[in-house]
Formats: sequence, structure tokens, C-alpha cells
Amino acid sequence: MPKSVDKNSGEMMHHIAPRCTITLHKAPFMSSNLYIPKTCKHCGNAFTARTTVTKYCGDTCAKKAYKARKRQEKIQATLTKNMEQQKEVVQVPNTNAVNNKDFLSVTEASQLIGVSRWTIQRMIQQGRLKAVPFGRKRIIARWQIENLFN
Ligand SMILES: [Zn+2]
Repeated sequence: MPKSVDKNSGEMMHHIAPRCTITLHKAPFMSSNLYIPKTCKHCGNAFTARTTVTKYCGDTCAKKAYKARKRQEKIQATLTKNMEQQKEVVQVPNTNAVNNKDFLSVTEASQLIGVSRWTIQRMIQQGRLKAVPFGRKRIIARWQIENLFN
């Protein structure tokens, strides 16, 4: 408040007064006399925060926490990437499942060699592949197929 105003009439002062109230309202925002007991999110030490958003006891912890968070994000990103890659592997049709089986259906056998089911059926009929009836399916031992290439 300029001094020239003080020297003027009281009426003038009344006009100035509302401005002061506004300033008072702002004061807590400036956090000059705000003390919030808090626990540092990084080191766990108790400290007094000046703002409600303060999470760390000091710059050191804030920086360390920031670095840790970045590192965590990086790890998370790698994990997510790995998971996506694994998903891709799983999505590769049947190959893995078929490769691990000792006994195959006609369809699986055809997938394994990369021919049509009819080719497999024909080979069974020709006696080049031995298929064992298994319920409604016919099962071909994996070694039978591998034998074809020996
Ligand atoms: Zn700390």
C-alpha cells in the first residue's frame, strides 16, 4: 500500500481494504506459514511439507525417487514388450503344440509337414503312414512321420 494513500482521507482507506482481504485469501496458497507433517515417500523419514503435494523430504529424495520411477518405467516397458513378444509366440499357430506332441491327429500331422489332410489320409491308405484309431480320430505316432524323412 503506497504511503500517499495513508496520508489521504479515511474514506480512501476503506476503498483499499478489500484488496487486503484478497491478499489474505491468497496467503495460504503461497504456503509461507503452512506446515504439513508428512513421511518421505522415498526414505520414509518424517518431515514438514510446505505444500500439500510435497512427497519427499528434500531434493535428494525427490531426485532419487524420480530416477527410481524412471527405472521402474523402463523395467515395466521391457516386461510389457516381453509379454507382447510371448503373446506373438503363442499366436504362432499350433507349431509349438504340434512340435511337442508324440502323437498327432491327421490334421496335426498335416500341419507338421505342411501338406493337406488329404495327403496324410492318402499316405495312411497307401500304408506309408500307420494310423491308430483312437475314438473317432486316427492318431499317428510322431516317429512315423519322422521316419518318412529317413
Ligand atoms: Zn527422504
